[in-house]
Amino acid sequence: MSSDPRHQDDRIRDFIHKRVDEDLRQGVVDHIRTRFPPEPNGYLHIGHAKAVCLNFGIAEEYGGRCNLRFDDTNPERESAAYAQAIEEDIRWLGFEWEPPLRHASDYFEQLHGYAMQLIRDKRAYVDSQSPEQLRATRGTLTQPGRDSPYRDRTVAENLELFERMRAGAFEEGEQVLRARIDMNAENLNLRDPVIYRIRKRAHHRTATRWCIYPTYDFTQCLSDAIEGVTHSLCTLEFEDHRPLYDWFIEHLPVPSRPRQYEFARLNLDYTVTSKRLLARLVEDGAVTGWDDPRMPTLSGLRRRGYPPTAIREFCGRIGLTKKDTRIDCRLLENLVRAELDRTAPRAMAVTRPLKLVITNYPREQVEELTLPRHPKDPDLGERTVPFSNELYIEQDDFHLDPPPRFRRLAPGREVRLRGAYLVSCERVVEDARGVPTEVHCRYDPATRGGVAPPERKVRGALHWVSARHAVNAEIRLYDHLLNSPEPTGADPAADLNPDSLETLTQAKLEPGLARAGLTERFQFERTGYFCQDSRDSRPERLVFNRIVSLRDSRNPAT
Ligand code: ATP
Ligand code: MG
Repeated sequence: MSSDPRHQDDRIRDFIHKRVDEDLRQGVVDHIRTRFPPEPNGYLHIGHAKAVCLNFGIAEEYGGRCNLRFDDTNPERESAAYAQAIEEDIRWLGFEWEPPLRHASDYFEQLHGYAMQLIRDKRAYVDSQSPEQLRATRGTLTQPGRDSPYRDRTVAENLELFERMRAGAFEEGEQVLRARIDMNAENLNLRDPVIYRIRKRAHHRTATRWCIYPTYDFTQCLSDAIEGVTHSLCTLEFEDHRPLYDWFIEHLPVPSRPRQYEFARLNLDYTVTSKRLLARLVEDGAVTGWDDPRMPTLSGLRRRGYPPTAIREFCGRIGLTKKDTRIDCRLLENLVRAELDRTAPRAMAVTRPLKLVITNYPREQVEELTLPRHPKDPDLGERTVPFSNELYIEQDDFHLDPPPRFRRLAPGREVRLRGAYLVSCERVVEDARGVPTEVHCRYDPATRGGVAPPERKVRGALHWVSARHAVNAEIRLYDHLLNSPEPTGADPAADLNPDSLETLTQAKLEPGLARAGLTERFQFERTGYFCQDSRDSRPERLVFNRIVSLRDSRNPAT
């Protein structure tokens, strides 16, 4: 057993880690090889991140290897573009697979050989029943299936038919190859499952070389065996398939014997973690694409600004169980917040600007005030922020008729402008409807840096930007993608939260942000954590996404 201290950590001593420890201790295996086997028919989502972190994490922890293998047996749904996006997402999470990059399609010839072997051993037969007949004779959970009239075809006849299937002599659905197991088996997966079907579609890697494709069940376990995978980790829905996998492994001359362990899928509230449902949102135009910052895809979370380290931390925290659960998305948000609080430089940005004029500040004067980039981490250095007689503050930070606990600016009141001066409101300019358009203040030159004698009770500290120097930006605020915490419908677009995106087009930023890098994350003081939108932000038109708010508005205690 490894002496890595992380293995003493209770958090990761789940049943799978214990199993691996035990297998190593008993000498069942002397090394660890895992794999992550995505189907390239969509983008990876936060649920996949759990499987990625588990498989790559186990390999890392035990000094083993993890393969990346595309499960590309379904030519009609898969593409090279999806495959490329998946590779990018895995690398973004910080993992690297053991070369080479693998594909189930690399094994098509070998898998075909295994199928021939089963036929020769009378363990597979070509069935000429229609898809409807196949369904009708499969039986149910309470009723056994019925033997196919083609079940006892001779080996020679089966070999010839299978060869003609491969040669393209039949149309889709006319013939299938089935494993000959037991139509009375209690487990439906063992009722002569289909192992090859005809698909007259070009494949993104093998082009038109094949018109018969192995099924998922046949491919997955045998690919694992071919690759010498020691622990095939998968989600619970494959638990019932394990006896079938064991049957294939037992009856074929495979080079190794993988063991499968199942764990519960990750579901996150207010969203869906199914490529099929996410694809619908994209196709319906309910979101702008797979990488829409509201999507639970890794590309969406990346564009939104989530740090990959927080996602890995999240996957470690949620642990592994045998029971399906739905995780509160606030757990992920809190981890993102905690990381960004530690690491993100501070800046000031006014999201909904209101002009503040300092009547006693010299018109032409500009002061460069120096502020720390991070209140607790001096290593991040300092920044300068220009101050002048016309500033912007948040509309929300001013109230004509302040409610009882309002601690910000109001007529006759004094507040601190963060890092600058104390100002007190003398006069308000309103428009025809009585909405304040300018707040006129006096500043106290003796309070430079926002420092005031203790006896002077100043209520709030507001963020601000100098109007003359401000950089214009668009700010996008996000909320849950879906209305329902536990979406169940087949059409998530029907459950779309209409307030999931709020666009503020008039935002004003402190000028240094014009030079921000595309991947830099900031805390906009008092507003939240932000980064530029990697797709839409331009030097002449900055667009910032809110990664997460400063506090959880649904739970003020956090
Ligand atoms: P989807 O329903 O989103 O299409 P899938 O299982 O069909 O998911 P695959 O590409 O086959 O998608 O998934 C690759 C691996 O990721 C599989 O081993 C699968 O078990 C795992 N996985 C998929 N979704 C989740 C999830 N929500 N939680 C944990 N693991 C997942
Ligand atoms: Mg799948």
